[in-house]
Amino acid sequence: MRLVLVGPPGAGKGTQAQYIASNLSIPKISTGDIFRANVSGGTELGKLAKTYMDRGDLVPDEVTIAMVRDRLSEDDAQDGFLLDGFPRNVAQAEILRDMLKDWGQALDVVLELVVDDDEVVRRLAGRRTCSQCGRIWHVEFDDKKDDKCDACGGALFQRDDDKEETVRHRLEVYQEQTAPLVSYYADEDILVGVDATGPVEEVTQRAMDAIRPYMD
Ligand code: ADP
Ligand code: ADP
Repeated sequence: MRLVLVGPPGAGKGTQAQYIASNLSIPKISTGDIFRANVSGGTELGKLAKTYMDRGDLVPDEVTIAMVRDRLSEDDAQDGFLLDGFPRNVAQAEILRDMLKDWGQALDVVLELVVDDDEVVRRLAGRRTCSQCGRIWHVEFDDKKDDKCDACGGALFQRDDDKEETVRHRLEVYQEQTAPLVSYYADEDILVGVDATGPVEEVTQRAMDAIRPYMD
């Protein structure tokens, strides 16, 4: 299955991506994770991406698209994938469609995670990520009393771009550039939306039920 997750920052895309990709046995491809790995690895791509990420702006399309093209060309992505964080504007969506078409492929479904702004702000304010395994936690909702990952014992960190001013800007960027994807994919008849509030497992269940009819 070829699936895209869309939703505002903090909607739970990364959290749900872990479970959905593992349920469907497809690779989870998160552009944010790939950029952050490049930033910590000090690569040229990381240096370029960091200035945009720190401001909460999108990394330029040419850079992002080249990175996704490389990743989607790998062997493990030939029979399906879950994209988390890409596409993030209509130009990226159009290039993705053409790229897949050249390969004789097409997206099966785009899953929109729907949450309101207040919930997004609460979720981002408490988000912590494991520096070792990448698992996503929340200080309040996961009742984290220490800064260690319950899955692997790694140290948890708070993302630089989860600071309040940057979060506000990222939400504006979402509204202006990413939200138009919802009608873009609705016009292509491959959009499904699910309520992304409530316990993580319930959201996963809703998501799996919503995408099942699109499985090949
Ligand atoms: P979140 O999960 O909070 O929405 P991500 O981890 O997906 O955030 O992205 C973090 C940052 O990485 C973005 O603010 C942006 O700077 C950059 N980024 C990620 N995906 C893309 C993309 N498809 N196009 C441009 N920039 C991107
Ligand atoms: P995104 O990738 O869309 O930016 P994340 O998956 O990183 O979002 O989730 C943002 C924060 O919200 C994390 O701290 C995560 O633990 C928390 N979170 C995710 N899903 C839920 C949920 N259903 N209920 C409460 N908190 C959640």
